[in-house]
Amino acid sequence: MVNKNATLFLVATPIGNLNEVSPRALDIFRNVEVIACEDTRNSVKLLTHFDIHTKLITYHNFNEENSAKGIISLLEEGKDVALISDAGYPLISDPGYVLVNEVIERGFNIQTISGPSAGINALVASGLSTNHYLFYGFLNSKSTIAKKELQSLADFPYTLIFYEAPHRIEKTLKLCLEVLGNRKAVVARELTKIHEEYIRGNLEELVKLTDVKGEIVLLIEGNTNTKPEVNLEDLLPQIDELVASGHKTKSAIQEIAAKYEVSKNELYNLYVKSK
Ligand code: SAM
Repeated sequence: MVNKNATLFLVATPIGNLNEVSPRALDIFRNVEVIACEDTRNSVKLLTHFDIHTKLITYHNFNEENSAKGIISLLEEGKDVALISDAGYPLISDPGYVLVNEVIERGFNIQTISGPSAGINALVASGLSTNHYLFYGFLNSKSTIAKKELQSLADFPYTLIFYEAPHRIEKTLKLCLEVLGNRKAVVARELTKIHEEYIRGNLEELVKLTDVKGEIVLLIEGNTNTKPEVNLEDLLPQIDELVASGHKTKSAIQEIAAKYEVSKNELYNLYVKSK
């Protein structure tokens, strides 16, 4: 519930096509006292396109704590503030996390004003599973660290979503193939812009790409080889059934252990204990 304190609006802005700014976002931009943005040169273009002249201030990634202080002072004076980034949602691979936590701690209101985000736009058109997905954002720019990050993601059975810069995409695709193995993957570029394109294939095909330009989301199929976790206790009734139908205990355990790819010794010990 909104209280009588001032509000920080987290407003999503277009990731390319300016018409994707919502009427609600424009209302907020007109009505807040100040709009905090990453780079006033970028945001002024969006605002002047809609003939909005609200005061812009910068909110910096590299000094979030100091930037947050300035915005907290405005909220303390009862002034509503909108936080935007250069594109998409603030806080999604963009600054704002420190500020949001300060605002929560101090009991001001926070509201999100919906709009596009490159990862979600790319995911829904990728053709990869949307049931479960893991948004990772940017991998580390050092390849030794990026490799470790990818190793930590290798077993997840969820579609992986990465942001990447065009000058690094070729290297990143190679590293993904090396660490994750060949999987379905999609390079989604320039979303909502004139040259919007989805390059679908697998990692072995995509590593051959050269000179990929523009803004890029890389999506990779989750690990499809992970076995579902088996609880050994759940297998005991199946052993009982085989035994009741005439199998020797040992062969029944062997058969069930092989079927579920679990240790027959562990299953045997558990079975004996359960009797
Ligand atoms: N806050 C943004 C969001 O909600 O999507 C992301 C900002 S992040 C600093 C910028 C990265 O997002 C780009 O390097 C690219 O990976 C991705 N991105 C942004 N706009 C895009 C677009 N139109 N098409 C494809 N990727 C885009």
